[in-house]
Amino acid sequence: MIFTKVCIIGAGPGGAAAALNLNKAGIDCVIVDKAVFPRDKICGDGLSGKVITSLKRIDPEIVARLENAGFKLNSWGVRFVAPGRRQLDIGYRPDFDKDNAAHKQVPIGYVCKRLDFDNFLVEELKRCPHVQLFEGVNINKYTLESDGYLVSGVDGFEIKAQLIIVANGAYSSFTKEVAGIHMEPKHYVAGIRAYYKNVTGTNADNFIELHFLKSLLPGYFWIFPLPDGGANVGVGMLSEAVRRKKINLKKELLNIVQNDPVIKERFKDAQLEGTIDGYGLPLGSKKRKISGERYMLIGDAAYLIDPFTGEGIGNAFYSGRLAAQQAALSLQNSDFSAAAMARYDSEIERVMGAELRLSHKLQKFIKYPILFDTFLKITANNKRLKEVFTCMFHEVDIRKKLLRPSFYIDILLNR
Ligand SMILES: Cc1cc2nc3c(=O)[nH]c(=O)nc-3n(C[C@H](O)[C@H](O)[C@H](O)COP(=O)(O)OP(=O)(O)OC[C@H]3O[C@@H](n4cnc5c(N)ncnc54)[C@H](O)[C@@H]3O)c2cc1C
Repeated sequence: MIFTKVCIIGAGPGGAAAALNLNKAGIDCVIVDKAVFPRDKICGDGLSGKVITSLKRIDPEIVARLENAGFKLNSWGVRFVAPGRRQLDIGYRPDFDKDNAAHKQVPIGYVCKRLDFDNFLVEELKRCPHVQLFEGVNINKYTLESDGYLVSGVDGFEIKAQLIIVANGAYSSFTKEVAGIHMEPKHYVAGIRAYYKNVTGTNADNFIELHFLKSLLPGYFWIFPLPDGGANVGVGMLSEAVRRKKINLKKELLNIVQNDPVIKERFKDAQLEGTIDGYGLPLGSKKRKISGERYMLIGDAAYLIDPFTGEGIGNAFYSGRLAAQQAALSLQNSDFSAAAMARYDSEIERVMGAELRLSHKLQKFIKYPILFDTFLKITANNKRLKEVFTCMFHEVDIRKKLLRPSFYIDILLNR
């Protein structure tokens, strides 16, 4: 049996972020994954500024290594396409000027196949003196004992830890069985992803594209450009709507690519590579209890995906960092009680609460195509509102303001 202070289950972005932060704090930990890396994870492959900020906080050298990696594409913003086809481009930096060479030196987002990105993170873990990584170990049993958690895997693998960080993704059995959090179709998205080659018409600055097509509402279709002319193409829709409308998302994706009057032109010479695969997105549109005696949930296991954009990697990183900070505090005070761990819930609320609530409002809003079209029209023609949305990617205070109706009235009336 292995003994450790902290055991992390799952070495995806959330688990890797927790381990890298613990290593930085000089705390020994063990991280276990059922997969052997490199492994695929069905995803849109979009990495926002949150990921880069998080990695920079751990060690700017990691970002330098990522910047030099050939497997990712630099991206400078998001293109929203409303049901009436009106489009709005929002750059990730407020002063982004595509003709300014200095601005292009530092992209704020990347698109990067998870096969490569997650393997990059695992390689970073291997550099860490305080991290012990085990691959190919499927954890299937958790036993709370008086002095720690006994974590057991198939084939007799056993770890005893004072504290566990559960980072094993959307289908975590711990989340259901121990934390008592269950999938609710109105707080869950079903997503499918395909890789295509030779899609045309992508933005010159590699903006990722979210298309809110009338035929697909309340779902959305995305095209995220990848290196070498590739693209990650997918469809996401609230599970409640998928069930109610009895929609087959794979057929829906193929239908858009082959028959949508605008999209089909861009796929005229495109080729599908591999299969079209689906996976769940547990949304943070509902506040949940994500800690308990000697444990914390992070990333998808904690239901932290942004309900509007479907972005989960950034929040997995943020929660990994907050969990590592809580672990340090609990170890220092030798207090792993549920009451002590609840501080982690408060920290998650402080850092992500306002943003998740705003995104939940926006998610509801897109059900109304006319409102959405009008909103995009107003935003495109209102310099201040456009700037506000650009800043939203960086500034939490701006996001908080966005929750107040008076804020929009002030802007529209130019007050
Ligand atoms: C179709 C789709 C598109 C998406 N697009 C985007 C996007 O563009 N940008 C974005 O930011 N997010 C996107 N997301 C969300 C993103 O993929 C997740 O939020 C992110 O992967 C969460 O990271 P994680 O570390 O919590 O979980 P995961 O990445 O799922 O990692 C969990 C790890 O745990 C391991 N594991 C599972 N069970 C066990 C076990 N029993 N024992 C040991 N190990 C185990 C797995 O092998 C895996 O490595 C998308 C999701 C989907 C489904």
